[in-house]
Amino acid sequence: MQGNMMFQPLLISNLIVHAARYHGDTAIISKNTDGTITTTNWTHVAENSKRFANALADLGAVHADRIATIAWNNHRHLEAWYAISGSGMVCHTINPRLFPEQLIFIINDAQDKVVLFDKTFLPLIRAVKAHTPTVEHFICLSAFDQEVVDALPDVKFYDALIADHSAQFEWPSFDENTASSLCYTSGTTGNPKGALYSHRSTILHTYAICLPDSLNLSANHVMLPVVPMFHVNAWGTPYAAAMVGCTFVLPGPGLDGASLVQMIDDYDVTVALGVPTIWQGLLSAAKQCGSKLATLKRNVVGGSACPPAMMKAFRDLYDCETIHAWGMTEMSPLGTSNQLKAKHHKLSADEQLNVRLSQGRPPFGVDLRITDEENGTHEVVRDGHSTGNLQVKGHWIIESYYGKPNNALTTDGWFDTGDIASINEDGYLLLSDRAKDLIKSGGEWISSVELENIAMSHPEIAMAAVIAATHPKWDERPVVIAIKQQGSDVTEEDILNYYADKIAKWQIPDKVIFVDSIPLTGTGKMLKKDLRDQYGSVLLEN
Ligand code: AMP
Repeated sequence: MQGNMMFQPLLISNLIVHAARYHGDTAIISKNTDGTITTTNWTHVAENSKRFANALADLGAVHADRIATIAWNNHRHLEAWYAISGSGMVCHTINPRLFPEQLIFIINDAQDKVVLFDKTFLPLIRAVKAHTPTVEHFICLSAFDQEVVDALPDVKFYDALIADHSAQFEWPSFDENTASSLCYTSGTTGNPKGALYSHRSTILHTYAICLPDSLNLSANHVMLPVVPMFHVNAWGTPYAAAMVGCTFVLPGPGLDGASLVQMIDDYDVTVALGVPTIWQGLLSAAKQCGSKLATLKRNVVGGSACPPAMMKAFRDLYDCETIHAWGMTEMSPLGTSNQLKAKHHKLSADEQLNVRLSQGRPPFGVDLRITDEENGTHEVVRDGHSTGNLQVKGHWIIESYYGKPNNALTTDGWFDTGDIASINEDGYLLLSDRAKDLIKSGGEWISSVELENIAMSHPEIAMAAVIAATHPKWDERPVVIAIKQQGSDVTEEDILNYYADKIAKWQIPDKVIFVDSIPLTGTGKMLKKDLRDQYGSVLLEN
């Protein structure tokens, strides 16, 4: 017997319809590429997304076409994003920090028909245009601009398309399993691979990230996604903002600490999301200008492990609760987020901090297990100590990569994340490392993340990466690559001594190398592969 309830497909267009109808006058504040601010609201975003849906149809784009965006987080990008997925096309967000060859690969792999871009990325567009034969239209997300026309004569302008098209548009209805958006993995090894999300997976993921034990979002919030829309759909925040109808503050190209402090203070941001390197910049900018970040109640840290010193700084200096979250492109991205359970409220503040440092628990809809082999099926115990290969299963987790016929799962249907982790009795996940970043010293594993966290808790270290360097006796030994705080004259010996009472003696790194900068991936994570290439032989040099 079937239930008697209505069936409505879970479609992304419903989010923008809901936001416009119930939160129409709630503000969307957007920093434009030229630095000016536009204030709009959910009503206008919804209207313009319909206008752009009409424009796309006029340009000949049809259901299932891939429409790419190479753009900052701004209101035009948001409008276009709803227009594309809402009309049944696939919104393919591209990371502009990729090399032109990778961009060309991705555009051709996806067979994008239209590319939308912000003026900042005009040089990139010029570099790739001749090599992307499937693209029929390039649209600049701005008003008419002669400089852009001079560089790209057949370009179209978003504002003109919006002005020329009506806001009368009926969002089509279709199967909720239809593809909605496409993100490529960062591809630090080999070519990037596409994760193709569906309307259903996206809506279920959106419900989950709004939950109190996830990001705890509501119409009371002013949310600032610093994480770019091209990094796993800004972790789903453009969908979540529409679902709950919160105020949405889009930082455009202003991702440096000072610009973010100003956005937070000017627009009373209550919750912001980004990777640790972003927060590092924000903390030093706030310290420098004396801002108290008074409205910021919560910051979400994901993408890389949150250093304990950072969580403490937000708690002690800014009374801001840090939510540590873990996920990946293949998971839409949310896998876990860290909120306390009722029993933890009896703990002291520092004991609670200890709980909060792990990557947290999965929401309903994601299941986790740790196996003793990569792609294996034998689960290890959930005791908080036994580490192994982290595998996941759930409603918004990849089954196969875009254009790749084979499914990407274990024989019993789990996705192996490539992360090494343990799970404790309460279901909290603790990541030790990426499998490829672990350091194998004399047959024993050392976690690079643990060593990085210690280095970064030193008051005179601004950022630190720990890599495996080849060693003639032990195969691999840890080496710290660190950036000093401005004006510090801390020495290698100071840092090595600092490790002494914090970890087993054999885990203490062999060397500290001070540098002025650490290379970052397109999504702001430390590029350890490049560091390994550069410093992987330093212990062999003598
Ligand atoms: P991406 O698909 O580019 O977002 O990368 C996903 C990978 O980033 C994961 O598999 C983890 O290795 C890493 N990652 C994401 N969040 C965290 C976190 N909170 N702590 C440690 N590593 C993380």
